[in-house]
Amino acid sequence: MFDFDHSLVRALPEFTVACQAAVPPSPRMVVWNAALAEALGLSCADEVQNARWLSGAEHVPGSQPVATAYAGHQFGHFNPQLGDGRALLLGEQIAPDGSRFDIQFKGSGPTPFSRSADGKSTLSAALREYLMSEAMAALDVPTTRSLAVVATGEGLWREVAHPGAVLTRVAASHLRVGTFEWAAAHHGRAAVERLTDYALGRHFPERMGARNRPLALLEAVCEAQAALVAKWMNVGFVHGVMNTDNVTISGETIDYGPCAFLDHFSQAQVFSSIDQNGRYAFGNQPVVCRWNLYRLASALIEAIVAVDEADNEAARLLLDSFAARYEGHWIAALRSKLGLSTSRDDDLTLGQELFARLEGQQADFTRLFRALSASLADGFGVVGAELTDPAALRPWWDDWQARLGREPDDPARVAKMDTANPLYVPRNHLTDAALVAAELGEMGPFEELLALVSAPFKQREGMDRYTRSAPVGTPAHVTYCGT
Ligand code: AMP
Ligand code: MG
Repeated sequence: MFDFDHSLVRALPEFTVACQAAVPPSPRMVVWNAALAEALGLSCADEVQNARWLSGAEHVPGSQPVATAYAGHQFGHFNPQLGDGRALLLGEQIAPDGSRFDIQFKGSGPTPFSRSADGKSTLSAALREYLMSEAMAALDVPTTRSLAVVATGEGLWREVAHPGAVLTRVAASHLRVGTFEWAAAHHGRAAVERLTDYALGRHFPERMGARNRPLALLEAVCEAQAALVAKWMNVGFVHGVMNTDNVTISGETIDYGPCAFLDHFSQAQVFSSIDQNGRYAFGNQPVVCRWNLYRLASALIEAIVAVDEADNEAARLLLDSFAARYEGHWIAALRSKLGLSTSRDDDLTLGQELFARLEGQQADFTRLFRALSASLADGFGVVGAELTDPAALRPWWDDWQARLGREPDDPARVAKMDTANPLYVPRNHLTDAALVAAELGEMGPFEELLALVSAPFKQREGMDRYTRSAPVGTPAHVTYCGT
């Protein structure tokens, strides 16, 4: 099925521990991503055989399963030893276009890093990650992908009984900020340097010739993470657990545990049950991203100054540049959402003013932007209908009209805005309902929701309920880690 390479194990053997998946009682394919399989160049027609391979029932030919080591700052506190406690890297698949992808099991049983936990995943957690990651990919947000979910036939105990499953995850790599923290904490500078070269070669090969490679890596990751978090903020995504072990070097979104899309816009929005102080609140994500990049810099700094002492200052200036980099990415994406094809200096203020005036409006984030495009033909009323206090947004809308007046005429403006502003995202109440049904064996709601969020910009007949906010009285949405 796969044609595996194992460059990580070859280059950095001390970062990996060989380990086998637990054998499940009765594997059954629940979701299969045929389009992704084709993009990866997989040959795999037999669903029963695929379910056996992608659940741990049979060794995947050519795979060399390993659990990888990493450390991480969790809610601000350093844990020197985390690692793949419920995941196994099978190997790397080279796609027909030449790009290299990690193929990883999630939920395949205990590893040396599981501590006291079972290393398994519930069917609903695996399906949640599948749905969220495929939605993010369709929204053009860099992300790990999901190839398959196979139910194991085993029951898991998580306060109540749940069916178990294995997710097959596809990632540009699983290198994290926490991988560098682990190297620095346990193996010192030489290991950090080897990891740096591996990461640069894999993700930023154009920077391999840099004078100071660890500094070049730090810059590349700052840029990739600034771009990523700017995209999250423009689709209303709350990651929920931005610990440094969940921050990739590639700049892909990873670990869809407690994440959720905003219903009502609020910078303070938190969904995760364990984030009581709002560390990972929607509006705090750029701040935390920068904090995480400081942790990467700490892990790299010895290697950076070993090349040139003066680059200590260069690293500091680089980290100082994060806010400007982030704002540049954020406003570039927001311009498309607002129908602006040219840039002006005061666009950033226009964008910030919109977000400031939306606070407290009970505005559904996704619907609001579609209402803005509709308002170009139908007037302010369609926007006002989305707000509790329309008069408070009216001056901003007038400023936006004035700004549009400085744009070249474009008869396709509304259509272009509607390719930047999705209609369908995995709304919390719909996702929950689909996952509850799936655990009871009814896959229809999941499949319908998945089909819509996989083509999120194109309006479909008869699917209006997928564009509506949760009914009044729906309890506040709460998400959980590690289920
Ligand atoms: P996460 O919150 O998913 O990023 O996980 C944080 C750490 O806990 C990682 O080292 C995971 O491997 C580990 N972990 C989470 N859930 C489990 C589980 N069910 N069994 C073993 N380890 C787990
Ligand atoms: Mg994680």
